[in-house]
Parts: sequence; C-alpha cells; structure tokens
Amino acid sequence: MTSRAETRLRRGHPWIFRSDVLRARDVTPGAHVRVVGQQGRLLGTALYSSRSEISLRLLTFGEREPEADWLRARLQAARAWRERVAAGATACRLVHGEGDGLPGLVVDRYGDHLVVQTLTEATERLKGELVDALRELLAPAGILERNDPRVRQLEGLERKVGLLHGTVPERVEVDEHGLRFEADLWKGQKTGLFLDQRENHLAARDYARGRVLDGFSYNGGFALHVAAQCDEVLAVDTSEEAVERIAANARRNGLANVSARSANVFDLLRDFDDRGERFDTLILDPPAFAKTRDAAEKAVRGYKEINLRALKLLRPGGCLLTCSCSYHVHEGTFETLLQEAAQDAGATVSLVEKRRQSRDHPVLLGMPETYYLKCFVLRKLR
Ligand code: SAH
Repeated sequence: MTSRAETRLRRGHPWIFRSDVLRARDVTPGAHVRVVGQQGRLLGTALYSSRSEISLRLLTFGEREPEADWLRARLQAARAWRERVAAGATACRLVHGEGDGLPGLVVDRYGDHLVVQTLTEATERLKGELVDALRELLAPAGILERNDPRVRQLEGLERKVGLLHGTVPERVEVDEHGLRFEADLWKGQKTGLFLDQRENHLAARDYARGRVLDGFSYNGGFALHVAAQCDEVLAVDTSEEAVERIAANARRNGLANVSARSANVFDLLRDFDDRGERFDTLILDPPAFAKTRDAAEKAVRGYKEINLRALKLLRPGGCLLTCSCSYHVHEGTFETLLQEAAQDAGATVSLVEKRRQSRDHPVLLGMPETYYLKCFVLRKLR
C-alpha cells in the first residue's frame, strides 16, 4: 500500500484505489483480504474487487479482525439502528453501504418487501448468503434485486433486475408519516421512492404555508406532506409518469388542493417570474446535476439559477427548502452559491436549517462521499 493510501485510511476513509496497491497476493475476487502497509503493519481487512478502480473497501481498520459472522452481525446492527431512527416507517433504507459497514450493499425496505443492490464484486458474490440472512432476520414476503445502477459496470457486473426470493408485486403501497404512497419497486427511480428525503418531507411541515411550488416533485413526496396545512400546492416534474403518480397519490390521500403539472422547472420558474407570480413556499429537489467532479462547475450554475429564480418568486416571510444531492457540490459550495443567488435576487435571506439525508442513510465520518444530500431551509426576510 502506498503511504498516500495509509494516510487516507488513518482518517477513516475505507477505500483503497488500484493505483495505491503495490502488491496483490492470494486475492480472490470478492473475498476479504488482509491489507498490509509498507512497513509490514496490518492496516485492516477489506473486500477486494479485481476490475474496479476501487480495489479494496475496508471492513475493519488496524489489527481488528471482522466479526466471525460479520455479514449477519452488521445486518443486525443496521436493523437495530433503523429501529431507533426510523421506527414506525414502513419504507426506509436498512443498509446504506459504507455508512453501515457493509461496502457495496444497499437494502431498502418497503413494508414486507426488500429491494437489494449488490454493487461490487464482493457483495455480488455474497448474494446467496445475504438472501439467507435477510430471510432469517426479517422474514420478508419477497426480495427483489435492483441491480440496474450503472456503477455495476465498473465492477465488471451485468445490470439486471429480478426476484431473489418470494414475490414482489409491481406496485406496493407504503405509509410515510400517515400518507399513502404507491411505489414501483421494479422500475421506479432509485428503488422506488426517495427514501433519503423521508425526514425532510416531514420537516417541510415546519415551514410550508399558503401557496406552494414543489419543483422536481417525482411522486409528490414534499407536495403531499405539506398539502393539508397549505392553501394550494403545485407539484412539477418533467416526467409525465411522475405527474400521473403525483395526481394518483393526491387522490389516494384525499388531498384536493394538489395539482400536478409536467414542465421543466428551469423554464417554469422563468415564466412565473416574467408573469409576476408569487409563492409563500418553494421546494427545490433537483436530480444530481453533477455526477462527476468535472461536472461540478456547470452544476453550480444550474443550482444557482433555480435558487435565484425561486428567491425572486418567494414572498417576504416565506421559506425556500432547497436540496442538492450532488456529492461533488459540497456543503460549503452549496451555501456560497445560495448566498450569491440571494445577492443576485436582491433578497435578504436567513439560513434557518442545514439538513441532510435521513438518518437511515448514515454518514461515515472520514468518508465525505457518504454525505451527499444537502437540504437547506432559507427564509426570505425582504
Ligand atoms: N422531491 C422528490 C424527489 C425528486 S427526484 C421526492 O422527495 O421524492 C428529481 C425529479 O426531478 C425526478 O422525478 C425527475 O423526473 C425530475 N426532473 C429532472 N429534471 C427536471 C427538470 N428540469 N424540471 C422538472 N423536473 C425535473
């Protein structure tokens, strides 16, 4: 291992890149291996990937060995954490990769059904054991693999979606804070719902009132959560399918003041601004504008533009809840671009709250990549 890699490990970052590996001996793809430093010191144990640029993902640091039955032990610990921070949630993330000490693994729970993603060679190889452990631990009615993310290709793995156990219907209905949502586990975005926004959906109730615009709404997550306390809610998404789902979810919950429209938020905000429309609450939750580091600069311009326009449309006293799920646009960058947007909009704005992804998506200290979703609440003073 190079000394650069050693330094990163000491800070708690669990990845070792291919370029940092000086010598690989007795490594079976997918197996867990011992990681040794240049001085011969044991640096930890890790899962090995033969094809990826990320060769090693640590399971333990230093002299410590993994627990005898580490997969089961870590699944159990992950579940115990959800019992504390997502108690009562029918849909939540049970395993969030490195954040739960299970690199390359995602498990989402939708009521009696589980959706898993084995994103590395190692977790792919462990799939059989994983299914056994999940069945023992949670007795699900069905387990679906949503192994269609592109990152699988970086590991030399094919992209596929299919049943691993039992049955999983095309649509399942879940409860989020007393609201009913339909989720398409087979084909929906992510694994069906944006579970990482679950706590922010609820927090939005602290701020929303009057006339609301929910941009980038997907299935109406934010819109539906605030509808009961607001006069009218307009939910917008480019996807026609999403718009149909928002309308269906609103009907399902008897919320007559939610309307859904298919539009590009960039254009719509500009139009509304030209026409002098005003809102008491705005919500912006765009897709990741920056998927790579190189795309970050352009992404910043995109974020700045929508936030600038949103602040113009916002009535004084109202709140803007604004998100970025691009890891490459860091929290500090996001704050700066919001400050610039406010300045350009001629608005005086207070920063009310800095929130992040829900706590069932744990952030690993020392691994900034695990903190990807920023959710800031701003209040326009004047
Ligand atoms: N707020 C949602 C998640 C939003 S995900 C929730 O809490 O569940 C981002 C959504 O933005 C996707 O549904 C995508 O279809 C939509 N989208 C992407 N680009 C868009 C654009 N330019 N205008 C409007 N919607 C867009």
